[in-house]
Amino acid sequence: MFESLSDRLGGVFDRLRGRGALTEADVRAAMREVRVALLEADVALPVAREFVEKATEKAIGQNVLRSVTPGQQVVKIVSDALVEMLGSDAVELELGVTPPAVIMMVGLQGSGKTTSTAKIAKRLAAGQANFGQAGRERKKVLMASLDVNRPNAQEQLATLGTQIDVATLPIVQGQQPVDIARRAMQAAKLQGYDVLMLDTAGRLHVDQALMDEMKAVADVANPAEILLVVDSLTGQDAVNVAQNFSDQVPLTGIVLTRMDGDARGGAALSMRAVTGKPIKFAGTGEKLDALEAFHPERVAGRILG
Ligand code: GDP
Repeated sequence: MFESLSDRLGGVFDRLRGRGALTEADVRAAMREVRVALLEADVALPVAREFVEKATEKAIGQNVLRSVTPGQQVVKIVSDALVEMLGSDAVELELGVTPPAVIMMVGLQGSGKTTSTAKIAKRLAAGQANFGQAGRERKKVLMASLDVNRPNAQEQLATLGTQIDVATLPIVQGQQPVDIARRAMQAAKLQGYDVLMLDTAGRLHVDQALMDEMKAVADVANPAEILLVVDSLTGQDAVNVAQNFSDQVPLTGIVLTRMDGDARGGAALSMRAVTGKPIKFAGTGEKLDALEAFHPERVAGRILG
């Protein structure tokens, strides 16, 4: 992931560094190349535009061009802008509420929601979900599937639960999502669970029924975290999906799946800017330990080589 963007930016940077003096026209030409590189990596157009505008302004506005190493400084400005676009600091799960802390997983069908639910549950159970002190405590986790649309979705989560040794709410056939959420809350409280993970139903497309269902579940469960799961391989669509969800549901973060795939990476790059929400985790494979906390500066480092 990010290879072609990395190559393109590397080329622009080498040319900038290779020159002693820089004119405003040189900077504008370089920034046009940066913009093309971002768009080719599938970064959303308004995000790429704003990125380049801000970076250009900084590069020609200050005394950069008159400095001893203008090329170096312009490179630094672009690098900093990249880190800022990705969200600067890694953001942890916020689970410091009266238990059970509810994590609601939302997203389209096939985005990797159920798998990510299990991956996060596994980390929490092992005390590895966050990087802070509290995150190192092993959590007692209960998972519940509210997906009554897709056949066997509830069984799929139960199977994953067995694999990772995390409890799942017993299935009651015919029960509707809001009622399952209520039952899950009750079970989690009574049985002293620290964290309750709710795997909500997906849809093929964003639709109002889905949004209404999520809002009803959120009202009942009062989640500490609402994580949107999106497939990074869907590029621009992923960004649109995130925008849609983010407009209607109070998301607290994003899980980007399939970061192991051969994607151009633009979804990851645009996500924060478009939704204002941090990417908290990246899914990097089908296995249940293939999940990484998302560190913007490391990702930027990888892109910048
Ligand atoms: P859901 O419909 O959103 O619940 O999607 P699932 O969790 O069932 O995932 C759909 C498919 O994507 C499954 O085959 C998963 O193994 C796979 N998957 C999920 N996350 C990742 C990931 O980060 N990388 C890869 N390569 N595959 C993933």
